[in-house]
Amino acid sequence: MEYEPVIGLEVHAQLLTQSKMFCACSADYAGAPPNTHLCPTCLGMPGALPVINQRAVEFTILTARAFNCEIPEFAKFDRKNYHYPDLMKGYQISQFDLPLSRNGFILIDDAGTIKKIGIRRVHLEEDTAKLFHDGNASRVDVNRSGVPLMEIVSEPEMHSVEEARLYSLKLRQILRYLGVCSGDMEKGAMRFEANISLRARGTTELSATRVEIKNLNSLRAMVHATEFEIARQTKILNAGGTVEQETMGWDEARNSTFTQRSKEEAHDYRYFPEPDLPRLEVSRAWVAEIEARLPELPDAKYDRLMRELGLSSYDAGVITAERDVAEYYDRAVDAGKARGVEAKTIANWVSGELFRLMKERNVEIGAVKIAPAQIPDLIALVNAGTISNNIAKNVFEEMFATGDDAKKIVQAKGLGQISNRAALVAIIEKIIADNPTQVAGYRAGKTALAQWFVGQVMKATRGQANPALVNELVADKLKSL
Ligand SMILES: [Zn+2]
Repeated sequence: MEYEPVIGLEVHAQLLTQSKMFCACSADYAGAPPNTHLCPTCLGMPGALPVINQRAVEFTILTARAFNCEIPEFAKFDRKNYHYPDLMKGYQISQFDLPLSRNGFILIDDAGTIKKIGIRRVHLEEDTAKLFHDGNASRVDVNRSGVPLMEIVSEPEMHSVEEARLYSLKLRQILRYLGVCSGDMEKGAMRFEANISLRARGTTELSATRVEIKNLNSLRAMVHATEFEIARQTKILNAGGTVEQETMGWDEARNSTFTQRSKEEAHDYRYFPEPDLPRLEVSRAWVAEIEARLPELPDAKYDRLMRELGLSSYDAGVITAERDVAEYYDRAVDAGKARGVEAKTIANWVSGELFRLMKERNVEIGAVKIAPAQIPDLIALVNAGTISNNIAKNVFEEMFATGDDAKKIVQAKGLGQISNRAALVAIIEKIIADNPTQVAGYRAGKTALAQWFVGQVMKATRGQANPALVNELVADKLKSL
């Protein structure tokens, strides 16, 4: 039988707030010495009371609206009870039945096919401490305990590893556009859990037994674990067996999943409303105020670049991948309007030369020395015939290194295209006088030698002669010999 995978993803995203979720400790713990960002609250001391981080709630509502979610008028926090050494209080403050948002979706583009993936809910909780195991000892670093963690739960609506990968990339892109999460997986800012089951292809029922894979700390781990799990379940079903419902871990080194425990149900966590926090009232005015902070999102930007500016799908895709790049491009296009420089030409320079140099020299867009308006200035020089396209590439490299204006570089280095007829004629006449053999050859009927003369002129002018004019003048001179 042929099977179709049914995949749902839970994505945990650390929020870029200044303080932790329920206390005033700094949430920016990266690189800090262990156990320096802590207080009685995030240490889980009895009697220490939590206070809700308003910014974290706003970030979650902002994200939920970017994912087209509904924002209910009331939300509450609940205690999720379980024991593990990285959980300081013996419970995690999370959201159970009244999350901050629900029923949204995002769109993914799978090789030209647009697919809608449902988002069941986006809620807010707190991160755990971090454990380090070496030999027989385990150490705990509490700095991460209580960092705001947003959980984005998809519907089980992905049916290939590729769809799960595209969904994850789209989430990350939007979170970065919103500035609510760094998306830095190497630092653990985004982590995944995958639910996977198989069903006969062509059927629509959801399987009752799902396997959950926890602790997938990178996109790569999520992709590999999902591929592995689909293959494992296919093998079991093909052999006539049944897939057990369980929670698994992912062993990166062995490239395989392993059983952690049989799957917990919600009741295993004995959820109950957090007694130390008030219920959250989410006024419509507050939602509207947060919504007004939404930037133009990647899909809208991509569509606009193609529809209004005539960019190719490739250029629109690479330019909108990161918000900073897209905004840089928009500013260059605005500046280009006054100079009659086309948006498409600017896109070629950005996705071509600029990206090439950024990659080659390992420079982020924020550190690029070329101001957006300097790009149309350079293109205007090409359009006016002052410099050739090839010379422009050299000028661009110089601009990238120094941040100088194109005009200044062209003047200082004498790179201006030679379009002066008299000057070019003098050069051509000298070349003709110096090369009697080629002249004789041309006169004997080897007309292809005309190109050789053009080449000599370009060489003599170090490529700066206006090529069209040189062709014309060389042809004239040779004919009049
Ligand atoms: Zn604290």
